[in-house]
Amino acid sequence: MTDIRALVWGENVHEQTNKVVADIYPEGMHTQIAKLLTAERGITAKTVTLQQPDHGLTEKVLAETDVLLWWGHAAHGDVEDEIVERVVERVWQGMGFIALHSAHFAKPFKRLMGTPCSLKWREAGERERFWQVNPRHPIAAGLPDHFELENEEMYGEAFAVPEPLETVFISWFQGGEVFRSGMTWRRGAGNVFYFRPGHETYPTYHQPVIGQVLRNAVRWANNEQADIADPKNAPNVPVEEALEPIEERGPKLHGHGEEGFK
Ligand code: ZN
Repeated sequence: MTDIRALVWGENVHEQTNKVVADIYPEGMHTQIAKLLTAERGITAKTVTLQQPDHGLTEKVLAETDVLLWWGHAAHGDVEDEIVERVVERVWQGMGFIALHSAHFAKPFKRLMGTPCSLKWREAGERERFWQVNPRHPIAAGLPDHFELENEEMYGEAFAVPEPLETVFISWFQGGEVFRSGMTWRRGAGNVFYFRPGHETYPTYHQPVIGQVLRNAVRWANNEQADIADPKNAPNVPVEEALEPIEERGPKLHGHGEEGFK
């Protein structure tokens, strides 16, 4: 079996501007997330950042990516719309997409959801307790019934996303709020997962349990059936001949063999 090719997209802003974040993630959050992914065999991980040409997301790079992980917070608006469309089309073609923490407001995630993706939040370093609500789900493999992060930002419901395909985790916060902290969707041939924790001023991506979730999520999001090398693999297809005899009725807009809707 060939390795799953993960790509971690990092905004890489707080690491350059905030000493607390730089001390926790001296090589950048994206580098630490990539380290978690490659802690076990079967996944290779590269990193790219906002500051690179095309934000590191050229056609070639995306064609060689099975699962894209996205961490952003301060500079969602700096991501070019053209690149967002490129990412979304690759998801439709079968590339997995994992949105991390404040990427709930990242342009590609909002575009894939089609809803505001807003939520409640509080930055108080409080305890977060994750409860499994779908323990046989592949993303929950090998995890305990519940686990905790001692310091996290609170995200509370209502989280304005479409009803998920599956809910894998629900979080409880010390202050009393709850949040659907692990959810899946399918967009085209692409598997999408949102995973809530990962505030930049806490060492969340140094926790082994978070690495386990992310590796599970990458394995789950990888769609081996998808032909992600072909950007034209989902066209509208005209069908002139029916399998059973039909009587054509009513006016017809398109002539025989004519290019119609695309
Ligand atoms: Zn945050």
